[in-house]
Amino acid sequence: MTPIRIAVVGAGPAGIYAADILKKATDRDVRIDLFEALPAPYGLVRYGVAPDHPRIKAIVNALREVLEAGVVRLFGNVRFGTDIWLDDLKRRYHAVIFATGATKDAPLQIEGVDLEGSFGAAEFVSWYDGHPDVSREWPLEAEQIAVLGNGNVALDVARVLAKHPEDLRPTEIPDNVLTSLEASPVTDVHVFGRRGPLGVKFTPLELRELGQLNDVDMILYDEDFDVDTDEEELKKNKQILVISRVLNQWRERKTGEASRRLHLHFWSRPVAITGDGKVESLRIERTRPTEDGGIEGTGEYRDLPMQAVYRAIGYYSSPLDQVPFDEVHGVVPNEGGRVVDRGERVPGLYATGWIKRGPVGLIGHTKSDAKETIENLLADEDTWWRPEDPREASIIELLQERGIDYTDVEGWIRLDAHERSLGNLQGRERIKVVPRDEMIAVSRGE
Ligand code: NAP
Repeated sequence: MTPIRIAVVGAGPAGIYAADILKKATDRDVRIDLFEALPAPYGLVRYGVAPDHPRIKAIVNALREVLEAGVVRLFGNVRFGTDIWLDDLKRRYHAVIFATGATKDAPLQIEGVDLEGSFGAAEFVSWYDGHPDVSREWPLEAEQIAVLGNGNVALDVARVLAKHPEDLRPTEIPDNVLTSLEASPVTDVHVFGRRGPLGVKFTPLELRELGQLNDVDMILYDEDFDVDTDEEELKKNKQILVISRVLNQWRERKTGEASRRLHLHFWSRPVAITGDGKVESLRIERTRPTEDGGIEGTGEYRDLPMQAVYRAIGYYSSPLDQVPFDEVHGVVPNEGGRVVDRGERVPGLYATGWIKRGPVGLIGHTKSDAKETIENLLADEDTWWRPEDPREASIIELLQERGIDYTDVEGWIRLDAHERSLGNLQGRERIKVVPRDEMIAVSRGE
């Protein structure tokens, strides 16, 4: 039987899990090629998880096993829609799975959002994680900083901004980031949630971590806890129950001695950022709960002096060339991972991970997502593409013809070892290579 050839676009956890699950789901000879726009794999695990979260970064070990098992061929530094197109894949594969995730910031349409000093969290995260495509410079000039949103990204951003840099030094944080953080004059980081303390999206572990920061006081405001709590409802949600306990413990803590403060504000929705050319203050409207579990504005506005605002209100996916895109939800429209266009299935096209279901859920959730997509893909053999040139070498010839310096699994092993050895010299686990051309050169052994 001729092998089944599947292309996966995106080598983050979603793409790598999909490849692994596909290989294990059938006895047939499946050949999987994994295309990745960056020279290194692992997507948001490498470029989204905060450097002081080594526990989550350890997911890399499982992903690495898949790459090294010879299950897939990796083609890094190859961008879909720039270096290769859908027609190239149709000629060579039976189907493609898009696993390109969500790496941009969701838009926030409020006055002043484009002022200097107003930043998207996704970009800041890319900066502190050493993403090769963002500027290496980051202006950290504010003493008072607002972080908008009550998800785990908001907590990551607030923590990195408030934490004393010496406590980040042992991590794999890039040197230039550490140097900038060392010069930051920040004294107060304010996190704003538009719902109440029980309507947060962050998780207990990530919240608790804030309370353990060295020389940083947690500041809470009694007015945010005035709303009556339905104790029975609260008991039904373990995570929220724990969060409620942690927040209430912090309310009792003695504060006032730390040199930095991290404030958690609830019932506060951002309505405008104001300033003369650059951020000078944030205007919030106080909110209150509605009968149906939502929130509404109270008409009470407050202007709070801030010199920087970070928007951590969710991620958003990028559209893919010649692939349907749902602008409202920021996903590729699909039914169980089968891509659909105005209700009609598009043969050969599949999606998994955040591009499939939106930017929610932890990394592990991506596995069940991939399982569904793979089951559907395998059931669809009748509608797969019929590749004209299914030779193994065909894609390599194409990339060479186009002069694309692609990287592969061996290259990644080389870059990984190089980064670890750089880290070793300073007693750190790893020092990331940041410039794209240097990543490529090390990977390709040049
Ligand atoms: P998220 O969990 O969806 O949180 C987004 C937050 O932004 C919510 O509090 C939301 O409030 C708020 N928001 C949305 N639109 C807003 C607006 N117009 N004005 C004010 N607030 C607004 O998204 P995320 O933080 O980007 O995280 C994405 C996923 O990655 C999550 O599943 C998260 O758990 C995961 N993640 C995990 C970790 C970790 O495990 N350590 C770290 C980072 C990310 P509403 O609830 O009112 O909509």
